[in-house]
Amino acid sequence: MKCKIFWLSAITCNGNIHSFLNYPQIEQFLEDFEFVYNPLFESKANLEAVVSRYHETDILVIEGAISEAFLRGGKSIIDIINMYAPYVKKIVTVGTCATFGGIFRQSPYLDVRGVLFDETQSVDTFARVKDKVVSVSGCPIHPEVLANTLYMIKNEMTFAVDHYHRPKPFFGYTVHNGCTRNEYFEYKVDKHQFGEKEGCMFYDHGCQAPYTHGSCNKILWNEVNSKTRAGQPCMGCTEPDFPKIDLFNTKKNMGIPQYLPLGIAKRTYITLAGVVKAFKIERFEQRITDE
Ligand code: SF4
Ligand code: SF4
Repeated sequence: MKCKIFWLSAITCNGNIHSFLNYPQIEQFLEDFEFVYNPLFESKANLEAVVSRYHETDILVIEGAISEAFLRGGKSIIDIINMYAPYVKKIVTVGTCATFGGIFRQSPYLDVRGVLFDETQSVDTFARVKDKVVSVSGCPIHPEVLANTLYMIKNEMTFAVDHYHRPKPFFGYTVHNGCTRNEYFEYKVDKHQFGEKEGCMFYDHGCQAPYTHGSCNKILWNEVNSKTRAGQPCMGCTEPDFPKIDLFNTKKNMGIPQYLPLGIAKRTYITLAGVVKAFKIERFEQRITDE
C-alpha cells in the first residue's frame, strides 16, 4: 500500500521541494508514496480541502519556518499542524528553516522558528508530539537523504536520531567524512582557487565541513558530486546557526581557526599543527592535472 504524505509549505522559498525533484529514483518513489497534498506533485486533494479538515495521512512533511502569524490556505500554520499531528505516524521537518528557523529568522515575522527548535533552543509549541518529529536539515535538503528517511519510516525501520532529531544514518558524521581533499587537510595545505581540485578549504576559505553534520561526501548529489568536490567550501547548511556571515573566509584568532573540527581540543590542534608544519610535501604544491 502506498504511504500517504501531506507536504505542508510554511515560510519557505520552496528550495527543498525543488531539490527533491532531483531524486534519481523519483518514478519508483511515486509508486511507493502518494501525496495527499503537495504544491508541485499530483495530489489527491487541493490545499483548501486539506487545511480545512483532516485527510488521512501517514507522514506530515513540513517545509519552511513556523510563525504564529503565518497562514496557509487562509488557516494558521500552527492550527494545521495541530490538526494533523495527533494522527500521523511521523512529522518530518524538511530543510533548515523547518528544523531551526534558518534564513527566515531574519524575516518580518516576529516569532519565526523551526518546528521544535529556534536555532539551538527548544520550542515547546509542539512538545506533545516531539517524539514523532524527524529533522532532515539542509539548505536545501539532500534529496536522497529525504527519500531514504521517508522509506525508513514507511518500512517501520528503527533508527537513532541526534539531539536535534536528525536521523543518525545520515547525520551521524560530518561532511568532511568522504571529502576527496582529506590528504590536503591532514597536511594543512589550503592553496585553493574556487573550482579547482587542489587544496583543502578549511584553513583559509571557510569550509565548515569538519563541524557540519551531513552525508554530502558519502551520498553524492545527483549521484556524482558535492560542494567540496566541485571546489567550493561547505557552508554548514545543516546546522542550527546557518546561515553564518562571511562564508568564504576562515575566521582565526592568533592564526588558529575559530571553529575547530568536532571533538578536537584547541591544545591538541595546536600540537598537531606544529608537527604538520615540519612537512613540506612537494606534490601538494603542484596542480593535479599538470603534465
Ligand atoms: S575541503 Fe572541507 S571537507 Fe574537504 S578536507 Fe578540507 S575541510 Fe574537509
Ligand atoms: S556540503 Fe555543506 S553546505 Fe553544501 S549541502 Fe552539504 S552540508 Fe550543506
